[in-house]
Amino acid sequence: MRIGVLGDIHGNLEALTAVVEHMGAHEEIDHWVQVGDIVGYGADPGPCIDIVRELGCVVSIGNHDAAVVGRLDPDYFNPYARMAIDWTRDQLGETHRTYLANLPLLCEHHEYTVVHGSLHMPDQFGYVISTVEAADSIQHQKTRIAFVGHSHVPAAYMQRDGSRLEDLEFIFGPEIHGDIRDYVRVLVNVGSVGQPRDEDPRAAYCVYDTSTLQLKIARVAYDIESAQTKIRQAGLPSVLADRLALGV
Ligand code: ZN
Repeated sequence: MRIGVLGDIHGNLEALTAVVEHMGAHEEIDHWVQVGDIVGYGADPGPCIDIVRELGCVVSIGNHDAAVVGRLDPDYFNPYARMAIDWTRDQLGETHRTYLANLPLLCEHHEYTVVHGSLHMPDQFGYVISTVEAADSIQHQKTRIAFVGHSHVPAAYMQRDGSRLEDLEFIFGPEIHGDIRDYVRVLVNVGSVGQPRDEDPRAAYCVYDTSTLQLKIARVAYDIESAQTKIRQAGLPSVLADRLALGV
């Protein structure tokens, strides 16, 4: 089975469309996963939810998704994010809000686990940005691979067979290629479709092949200017448009 994994989309329809078209043409995906934050920041939350649903993605809820439907306190966020959350809530109809409201914090499939932030207290939406937080998450991981998002920075943390959690190995992106057969547990931050923060503005996506154990994070260029124009026209903070071109 080839699993296609989409990270933080954040209402960026141009990025999501480019990634899905590219994966459709090149990746032969059998099963789709989305790690949460379908909405928030970008100007097309509803159409992005529609695409995630049409693909049949297995989805774990993100902190922005949760805040839009009242499952997370807005005080968690900075003022720009809060403005985008309030704007997003007003854009969504009942069907979209109900969809977000019913997303689980965590999904455990027999081949993988998916959670937005960390398997260590998923409802706290903690960030995995070093081997310390990765070890906290991996200790709860029952499958060989787990997919997370939240930091918008592609990375893989790997526990070699017979090694201790204190000795995790790691790789940072922007792109990652390799097989994970030497590792018993791997935690993958799949990067962000709609708002990359690793100074590479291209949209990120991840593919994992359960037969060959090949893991890949790749990048796709998209029409950033159109996404920026829509954010500005919507009256959202212009910093949310500016950052897309910088990948920060
Ligand atoms: Zn996010």
